[in-house]
Amino acid sequence: MSDTVHKPLVLVVEDEAALATMLRYNLERQGYRVEEAGDGQEAMTRVAEQQPDLVLLDWMLPVMSGIEVCRQIRRRPETRDLPVIMVTARTDDQDAVRALNTGADDYVTKPFNLEALLARVRALLRRAGAMPAKSTLGFHDISLDQATHRVMRNGRPVHLGPTEYRLLEFFLQHPRRVFTREEVLDSVWGPDIHVEPRTVDVHIRRLRKAVNVEGEIDLVRTVRAAGYALDTEPL
Ligand code: CA
Repeated sequence: MSDTVHKPLVLVVEDEAALATMLRYNLERQGYRVEEAGDGQEAMTRVAEQQPDLVLLDWMLPVMSGIEVCRQIRRRPETRDLPVIMVTARTDDQDAVRALNTGADDYVTKPFNLEALLARVRALLRRAGAMPAKSTLGFHDISLDQATHRVMRNGRPVHLGPTEYRLLEFFLQHPRRVFTREEVLDSVWGPDIHVEPRTVDVHIRRLRKAVNVEGEIDLVRTVRAAGYALDTEPL
């Protein structure tokens, strides 16, 4: 994620500052750039200044409602196809229909599940072609195909549980870098999930067991008092 040019830009339109901050934090962790707008008018100004790749649009906004912002985005030729996810506190199905009729591509209802929201952002960006295609990550003799979730080591398939898969994917994105348990928790489980740091050890153990067979180098290095790294060097 070194090349900012290719990072999709997400505009978060949200008048609740704490929620906007939380969204920014999590979107940035996903590798997106984030702009914020606190009301509907500011949202339109931002969109005109620098067109984002996706708008996360709160329905209930001061000055101009989310619905009106969405309408205006759809009305302007240059933003007609701009992906919009509407965030609504309303649970009424009628409102969901209204959001979609106004031109929103998708909607989520507050309080939303963060993982589900991020999944929708990802899906919509991919549909819009703003996301780099999934690729194959590799290190030493191990490879992970993000499209098929297939993991291979030394020519043989490796079967991983979902958490071990995400752990390995995370390490493969930062080979040789040492992460503390807390950093691993934050990145793989998410900052809002409260689990014991020791949980990381459990999953690291499972990952090791799945990845290494006898006679092979242990690719997961334990760094005493520091954490873990994907590495080929022994302790
Ligand atoms: Ca609001």
